[in-house]
Amino acid sequence: MSNAFSWVFLAALAAATLMRLWLALRQMRHVRAHRDAVPATFATVIPLSAHQKAADYTVAKVKSGEVGVVLDAMVLLALTLGGVLQWLSSKWEALLPLDSIWHGVALIVTVVALRMLIGLPLTLYRTFVIEQRFGFNKMTAKLFITDMAKGILLGVALGVPLLVVVLWLMGAAGSYWWAYVWIVLALFAVFMQLIVPTFIMPWFNKFSPLQDAALVERVERLLARCGFRSRGLYVMDGSKRSAHGNAFFAGVGASKRIVLFDTLVERLTPGEVEAVLAHELGHYKLNHIKKMLAIGFAETLAGLFILGLLVDQAWFYQGLGVQSQTLAIALLLFMLVSPAFTYFLEPLQALRSRKHEFEADAYATQHAQAADLTQALIKLYKDNAATLTPDPLHSAFYDSHPPAATRIARLRTA
Ligand SMILES: [Zn+2]
Repeated sequence: MSNAFSWVFLAALAAATLMRLWLALRQMRHVRAHRDAVPATFATVIPLSAHQKAADYTVAKVKSGEVGVVLDAMVLLALTLGGVLQWLSSKWEALLPLDSIWHGVALIVTVVALRMLIGLPLTLYRTFVIEQRFGFNKMTAKLFITDMAKGILLGVALGVPLLVVVLWLMGAAGSYWWAYVWIVLALFAVFMQLIVPTFIMPWFNKFSPLQDAALVERVERLLARCGFRSRGLYVMDGSKRSAHGNAFFAGVGASKRIVLFDTLVERLTPGEVEAVLAHELGHYKLNHIKKMLAIGFAETLAGLFILGLLVDQAWFYQGLGVQSQTLAIALLLFMLVSPAFTYFLEPLQALRSRKHEFEADAYATQHAQAADLTQALIKLYKDNAATLTPDPLHSAFYDSHPPAATRIARLRTA
């Protein structure tokens, strides 16, 4: 049942889980310790009550995150060493031949559905208890259910055909199958970039052209200054789900568009909207999006190459509590357990992302007013109840954005 690899897996999972819990604890302690005073950088712009709300909101989110970490580890252990995966595989084997693609599809879909179901109470708690308590939730039960139904439908319509192609290539494309699978996944990622903004997002949200003529003119001048051509400037009804605000660019080539949350347009002055967009344009112009996509492709290739080495190794299956050896089981095990092994690489990704944020801020100060961006960020920190006093280690490990104080300090010297 178990071998040396079981112990390697257990050690990796324990290390990642304990590190997650320890960082969460540090974050809660740090935020609580700084709850009673607004940091000096923000003393004149953020009231104590807002700062305390941010502290309580952060602690509530971190606590629910801890529950998620423990739950994930338990589910993973039950599936692998606990024998649930082997049991499910045997059950499906009564209906479908073990080596068939459809046995693999059935097994993988079952595990994905199971994990979704187990995670559902926590998702509900986050949306309808935490977000609700802090006044951010605008989601109704009806909208939650429709969203989920649409998500499942999309997952089945896009995910199952992709899975069938991947499993077929794994079995039929010879020893270099991992290279072919990589090409298919890369093409699929590009295809998603094209259809997400044009077909998928409009299914969940309403996009209307930006109405405010003065703001449109201002943004168009900014786009011309930066030499950026887009296929449209849209406002999205983000307020139907949440009071959190955002702005983003979506799509590539002909489907490229700029999207502003209605909550953002309402809360920010035209100058501030311009500065936020200049920051987003910075990400685009400095090729951050392409770089991240390229890194993602490289990681996928490395992962598939390793999977190519593992599919024929009995110790890989047996070490993870599975006796039946099929390509689909190897793929499933790999997807389930690799996060435990790559967890300690996450800070690298976060570091790169924070570097990009600084670069985009610098770009924004060249093409819009630094003071506007500062103001916009302060409003966003306040409105989103984002903590101004994160634990430095927690922030270094996870945060995709630099800590508020560091970021504002840099903008003020720009
Ligand atoms: Zn950014």
